[in-house]
Amino acid sequence: MSLTTTLECAFVGGRRINHSGDRSALVDPVDGKPWIEVTAASAAETAHAVETASAAFGNGAPGNGWGRSSSAERSRALFGLATLIEEHAEELAQLESRNVGKPIREARDEAALAARCYRYYAGAADKAAGATLPVAAGGLSLTLREPLGVCGLIIPWNFPMVITAWKTAPALALGNTVVVKPATLTPLTALRLAELATQAGVPDGVFNVVPGSGAEAGETLVRHPAVRKISFTGSTEVGVGVMRAAADGIKRVTLELGGKSANIVFADADFERAADAAVWSVLGNAGQDCCARSRLLVERPLYDRFVEAVAERFANLRLGLPHDASTEIGPLVSVAHRDAVAAYIDAGKSEGARLVCGGGMPQRFAQGAWLEPALFADTSPRMKIVREEIFGPVLAAMPFDKEDEAVSLANDTTYGLSGSVWTADLGRGVRVARRVRTGVISVNSASSVHLEAPFGGVGSSGLGRELGMAALDSYSETKSVYIDDSV
Ligand code: NAP
Ligand code: MG
Repeated sequence: MSLTTTLECAFVGGRRINHSGDRSALVDPVDGKPWIEVTAASAAETAHAVETASAAFGNGAPGNGWGRSSSAERSRALFGLATLIEEHAEELAQLESRNVGKPIREARDEAALAARCYRYYAGAADKAAGATLPVAAGGLSLTLREPLGVCGLIIPWNFPMVITAWKTAPALALGNTVVVKPATLTPLTALRLAELATQAGVPDGVFNVVPGSGAEAGETLVRHPAVRKISFTGSTEVGVGVMRAAADGIKRVTLELGGKSANIVFADADFERAADAAVWSVLGNAGQDCCARSRLLVERPLYDRFVEAVAERFANLRLGLPHDASTEIGPLVSVAHRDAVAAYIDAGKSEGARLVCGGGMPQRFAQGAWLEPALFADTSPRMKIVREEIFGPVLAAMPFDKEDEAVSLANDTTYGLSGSVWTADLGRGVRVARRVRTGVISVNSASSVHLEAPFGGVGSSGLGRELGMAALDSYSETKSVYIDDSV
């Protein structure tokens, strides 16, 4: 597939299946023009993909199917896929950049991250060990790690390639087979990854992709009895419905949902580093990031000077076309989403927050999903822009006086995904990191994600952990085996 392809469709059983489903055009976020057509997978086609994945998993007999393949075979295929991603990195980055409207420099980093993710789990395939247990009965008690079967993996539109890698890599490493449901807006890189997986030696039917709507392909996947696990990344609202629907089939569920993370800056912080990070920890991917630190809490003596420094950085951002390597901020994913973000900016103004800079639609990009990053100061905890996830380039700043107050402001949210603390006092950094209710937090760093460390949220931000060796638990079942030694 190249950028000149005009029709995309589901990838099932190692090949494209182009049925006569509803066709819709993907729209370029830069100018609002259609550029590629996609045939949506219907409920019947999604069910067919699940049955194909179930057959590829096998019936449990030795040597039958991916579920009983050797760890060496799975590892070899995933190493091969990592190498193919590196060989096709520029193509994948271009595809992701054009589809999402993401700056090419971010998309290039993401292609590299996807390759590293497959390589990490290729290395983990033969390290998912069980244990021997000293049971009172004597004899030998041991545990085996077994794959679950078919996993339904539901992907959002903000990091389509990376999140597809995060979910498929550990699932496949342990012998599960997968059906990936990408977001309607952004199916392209998941489809390409499935093709590359086939080329790398992943058997037909093990890695399937069904581009289709949440209501049809998504619901079918969640309800199909042969699907044993759902891993969902997306909004809290949809996640709640997914969990409810999965309950009927007693399926395992991992949910990576929204966030409203805090960036806490104490007066003794390294000013320049903290100011740079305050910008990039909310504006990466144009703010369409579940880990975005969209609330900036600054110790009062530093507050005015810090807000001014952040405003200066906002004003100097290079807003531009995604394919331009110097672009720092591209458009949002769609005009509809841009309008939803713009409505939050209006709400901030009408609730009395001070708009320090940005928030307009740039004159030179009249078409498409563009928005200038907005910085609000003097916000308060009850404002909509402080409470709700905006998922766009909007930062809300407020001052605090004491460490305790910083922690209680940070925790004044139903979400709990990410966060940062900036201080020269490491003891305080550790105290605050412990007290903020969140799944992930960094001290003197804007990072949220390391492939080797568990990632996920608490509260409305989700359930379960992805990445690191923790992900292996969520894609395997533990079987206890007891062997009597008294006879
Ligand atoms: P979304 O609307 O919840 O959609 C996520 C995925 O679920 C899409 O593939 C969507 O398909 C599908 N879906 C929709 N309704 C469904 C249903 N009834 N059953 C099964 N699947 C269904 O979220 P989004 O708008 O794509 O992404 C933005 C949200 O994702 C934000 O809230 C953000 O915080 C969250 N997010 C979280 C993380 C994390 O790791 N915590 C990472 C990235 C994003 P359609 O595209 O067809 O609607
Ligand atoms: Mg949505």
